[in-house]
Amino acid sequence: MKINMANLNKQHEMIRSEIDAAIKEVIDDSQFIMGQKVLDFEEQFAIFSGAKYAIGMASGTGALHSALLALDIGKGDEVITVPFTFAATVETIYPTAAKPVFVDIESESFNIDPSLLEEKITSKTKAIMPVHLYGQMADMKPIMEIAEKHQLYVIEDAAQAHGATYFDDQAGTMGDIGTFSFYPGKNLGAMGDAGACVTNDLELNHKIRLISNHGQDTKYEHKIVGYNYRLDSIQAAILSVKLKYLSEWNSRRSEIANQYNEKLSGTGLKLPSEVEGRRHSWHQFVIRTSKRDELAEALAESGIATAIHYPIPLHLQPSFRYLGYTEGDFPVSEKCGKEVLSLPLYPELSPDDIELICSEVILSCEKLGI
Ligand SMILES: *Cc1c(COP(=O)(O)O)cnc(C)c1O
Repeated sequence: MKINMANLNKQHEMIRSEIDAAIKEVIDDSQFIMGQKVLDFEEQFAIFSGAKYAIGMASGTGALHSALLALDIGKGDEVITVPFTFAATVETIYPTAAKPVFVDIESESFNIDPSLLEEKITSKTKAIMPVHLYGQMADMKPIMEIAEKHQLYVIEDAAQAHGATYFDDQAGTMGDIGTFSFYPGKNLGAMGDAGACVTNDLELNHKIRLISNHGQDTKYEHKIVGYNYRLDSIQAAILSVKLKYLSEWNSRRSEIANQYNEKLSGTGLKLPSEVEGRRHSWHQFVIRTSKRDELAEALAESGIATAIHYPIPLHLQPSFRYLGYTEGDFPVSEKCGKEVLSLPLYPELSPDDIELICSEVILSCEKLGI
């Protein structure tokens, strides 16, 4: 491949000396778990995300599971979310013994369709879990109104939406808890697994900390049954270095997305849009076409990598068969699964890379009659 879906080497080259120094500090200090570096990053990430509290977590998946547990969601409860997301969103509901209930997505934003939400609410519904897919926030105003009316919690899966906004509000801060992933390929990526929860609620902040640390705030005094979902100091130190660049990197992503939208506007591809009032963090640039597989193949032949996020909606996955859904239940998600294609989008793409990608996409579209 001439152009891959990410180029972390290039990203790290630019900040290598800072990263090396940060890791060295942790080694010299040897506070690998719950060290000062974790507290520092939590403070910095709270400021970045506009939340009162940020809690470092071992992964985005651990953050989601902890959020559900902190809100006492468990057996007999239902949690409403989407089938068109990464599996982690839904797999974290399983160990709480609550039941995931799916709502289809809007075709335009790829996010939960608020107009289909209310009909899925039952006396067992405890929470709504919108996902800000690809970096664009879900339509949070109607979601929050419905949540308030029915007294439901809201957990925002903001794993792909660091820095995204919905009018004046930032991703992760509108619901009760927001969760982030720092998987290496995310807009803010660790050098391993890492994540965070954010909240404006002091008690939830405390409870998530307990859950992530074996239920203890004083060593060997276990108040509740917890887990080991702690962020480690080396990842925290790396994240603090990278966080300084995140706004700049997000701006570059946005610039590239605008160029793609401009240059590819003459093709028959359905291009992604930034809904008015929402700042997209452009985690992925996702186009749609019914000739998706042919286009992906043509681009691969020209040395351009693409990816499909996500080919099979979760209601059709073997792992979630136990929920009893079948083909046809979520037509928009199913159609998107067949048509979406992510083009390479990351801050390290050079103008030449973008030029090459656009010309190859246009050429392939002409060949394929798209
Ligand atoms: C990446 C991701 C997660 C999981 O995060 P990890 O840090 O990999 O555990 C959850 N939800 C969504 C939407 C994601 O993209």
